[in-house]
Amino acid sequence: MQKAKTLEPRNPNKSTGIFNGKSSGILNWNDIAYPHWHKMYKRLLGNYWQADEINMSNDIKQFASLSQQEQDAYLKIIGLLATLDAPQTRTALLLSLYATDPSVQSIMAVIAQQEAVHNESYSYVLSSIVSLDQQNKAFEFGRMDETLLKRNKNIAKYYNDFVENPTTENILKTLTYTTLLEGLFFYSGFAYFYNLARYNKMVGTSTMISYINRDELEHGRFISELFRATLSENPELNNDELIEWVYEQFKESVELEIEWSEYVLADIEGIELEEMHGYIKYRANKMLRLIGLEEIYPEYVENPMKWIRAYADNIDGTKTDFFEQKSRQYVKVNAIDNGFDDL
Ligand code: ZN
Ligand code: ZN
Repeated sequence: MQKAKTLEPRNPNKSTGIFNGKSSGILNWNDIAYPHWHKMYKRLLGNYWQADEINMSNDIKQFASLSQQEQDAYLKIIGLLATLDAPQTRTALLLSLYATDPSVQSIMAVIAQQEAVHNESYSYVLSSIVSLDQQNKAFEFGRMDETLLKRNKNIAKYYNDFVENPTTENILKTLTYTTLLEGLFFYSGFAYFYNLARYNKMVGTSTMISYINRDELEHGRFISELFRATLSENPELNNDELIEWVYEQFKESVELEIEWSEYVLADIEGIELEEMHGYIKYRANKMLRLIGLEEIYPEYVENPMKWIRAYADNIDGTKTDFFEQKSRQYVKVNAIDNGFDDL
């Protein structure tokens, strides 16, 4: 597949295809192939935030009082989240380079910007609470820790396959892993921080996590739409082999996620591993539905981790939930030196 041309006046403004299509490169939001994507773009923009708007002063005091297990898990999970968010900035850009629909290019630009913010936010929280040495160690985790490397092996494989061989099929595979990433891989990490928050611990960090969570939910929604639309524009790829491949990736990802959660969340007060496994399967079902496929864990159609609903399920800006409740504590602290400038 060729990269999309930047400007081609002989082509129409309204794109004839998401990938391998024709478009002039001129973006008129009132004349796009999938009109409701304008709303998605607006929702994404409406979520704008920055890491240093979050007040970390209580977390700075509290971190030392966490148990050793909690401190270890905190650093490992920040390491995990950083490893997941880092490739997203670039993958969003790469998808936009091949997209021949300028509305997709713009949406991907906003997603890429948000992923850049997520990455910076992990440096921001760590620089607030631990030494530079410990910060660096947490970021090395993604390339050193065996369990994490095993867990992330498939993402690396399919993301890199797309770089080396940009075919529509490899784009669909990358979109499958992006859906898994946005809708499943982050959530054991999110759960860890929400669990701390329900014991009133590290509330600054979990507020930041809820902002990331809100972004990832929107990304997951758009990426699954992109997957479905790309599949229906390329009916020859909508075959048993590819669909079977998608189901296999979901099953394998769930197993790896369960293994990971046992490794990093064992001995954490308040987290029941059985419940966590159910939650992982529930997330997988949810993402499968979003990409137009069937649930594979019929016993987990409902969220079995009841306490987390208040934190993770209701982030849509309409309900009174954790997010709104926390926004009262959301004080801009740009002027306060939390050590981040020392990075
Ligand atoms: Zn992200
Ligand atoms: Zn994302």
